[in-house]
Amino acid sequence: MSIPTAPADALQAPYVPDGPYGIFVGGEEQPGDGTFDALNPSTGQPWAVVAEASSAQVDAAVATARTAFRTWRRSTLEERQLVLLAMADAIESVPDWPRLLATENGRPIREASAADVPFAAGVFRYYAGLVRGQHGDTIATGDPGARVFTVREPLGVIAALIPWNSPLISAALKLAPALATGNTVVLKPSEFAAPSVVELARRTAGAVPPGVVNVLTGVGPQTGALLVAHPEVAKISFTGGGVTARHIARAAAAHLTPALFELGGKSAFVVCADADLDAAVQDALSGILSQNGEVCFAASRLFVHEAVHAEFLERMRATIAEVRIGDALDPATQVGPLVSAAHRHRVRAYVEQARAEGANVLLGGGSPADLADRLTGGYYLEPALVDDPTGRSTAAREEIFGPVVVAQTWTDEADVIARANASEYGLAAGVWTSDLGRAHRMADALEAGTVWVNTWFQVPAGQPLGGVKQSGHGRELCAETLLEYSTQKAVSMRIDADRPRLWGRDG
Ligand code: NAD
Repeated sequence: MSIPTAPADALQAPYVPDGPYGIFVGGEEQPGDGTFDALNPSTGQPWAVVAEASSAQVDAAVATARTAFRTWRRSTLEERQLVLLAMADAIESVPDWPRLLATENGRPIREASAADVPFAAGVFRYYAGLVRGQHGDTIATGDPGARVFTVREPLGVIAALIPWNSPLISAALKLAPALATGNTVVLKPSEFAAPSVVELARRTAGAVPPGVVNVLTGVGPQTGALLVAHPEVAKISFTGGGVTARHIARAAAAHLTPALFELGGKSAFVVCADADLDAAVQDALSGILSQNGEVCFAASRLFVHEAVHAEFLERMRATIAEVRIGDALDPATQVGPLVSAAHRHRVRAYVEQARAEGANVLLGGGSPADLADRLTGGYYLEPALVDDPTGRSTAAREEIFGPVVVAQTWTDEADVIARANASEYGLAAGVWTSDLGRAHRMADALEAGTVWVNTWFQVPAGQPLGGVKQSGHGRELCAETLLEYSTQKAVSMRIDADRPRLWGRDG
């Protein structure tokens, strides 16, 4: 993923759904217990009505997935490959995805076009390829009469819960490996990005046997909480925030349900004095402005060597000042609105607090001037660059999940490594240098699931995604993910022709 170039098209109209979005169980869509409105963050206007699942519907979805599991677990490897490939094709065959995604969560349409759709389809194709690579082991025993081998088996019903920032990609990262290993899924999208996931279920319904993929829409602390507490769920696969993860871990404890957690980050971006500054500035901008900064991998902590600190920050400031903020549906927009009014309030409060704590807000944090009248109800915020040389502000420590970057300075390699690692998070980190030895040393020393060198957001299929510390555990987008969704069974047998009798008269 990287910031794409803007397509030449004109402003798009908001996506218009066919009707309300229902819950999707057993291959059929049905109304829920109640509904809620989805708001277009660019305007604040409602654009879709989404069903809220009842407690009985949560039970029914899990039961349906459980029934489908009996058949799907026995599907041939070829059947699984064909389903995953058909899902990829179904995603790509729909031209309206970028418009839907931009309407839904405010992601600029230029990114939704170039990143989300090909990436999501690519995830399904990647796992279609891996389906046939699954294998067990033969265990050496040293006993000529013993044969021991292992097979991998699916777990059952996977409860997959995903956030709102990249719903199509997050759904693909859960569904593809879970299906590849023979599980069935009940997928719970965020209340801020449910329509795209229901659309995914609708548009891939022809490719997937009924009941293998089910979607429950609703509010997290209700629908989500009921799902993760369900005794028939074999594993929880969660991507989201740490506070929610703790709720889920407590609910999972009741049935000892295993859980995979992909959580937040506060990623360190370390610029050395010998870095290619042009490239580093561009990557730092991508790192904090892509997806409006609402991305787990946001490069939100900059550590810039003292020798280049002033120049680096001035280049960032000058470029951020020129960023085009506007309607996510405008292909010229580089930064769109934040996902909700409450989230904008939260992000803005971090900038104000940083100022109150003595940091220097070089620019941003306010409402953009000269927005068109029709956008005044939208959730816009100017991207902020905060200079906080020693990193004492709250904004330098906590995940903000918005376009706010805090810059610190450094002079000593050991010191910057210690400061970069002094975070409760460990999702990603990066280093910009032209010194190969330093690149390797820092890659070794930085505590993160991913370390980028002279790049950011480079995530080809096969590269493990995941964190250490409070960024979670488990790895997605790689072959090892298949191990997260399967268990090992040992088959231990005796093959000797004559066996000593241990019991009875001659034993
Ligand atoms: P969130 O934790 O609020 O919600 C995530 C999901 O959990 C949603 O579907 C929500 O409805 C559900 N949920 C909320 N409360 C629940 C409860 N009590 N029980 C069960 N389910 C519940 O997160 P968010 O605001 O949607 O997303 C932002 C967070 O996600 C950030 O911290 C971000 O870093 C993280 N994230 C991580 C990755 C990754 O791969 N590591 C990717 C994207 C986002």
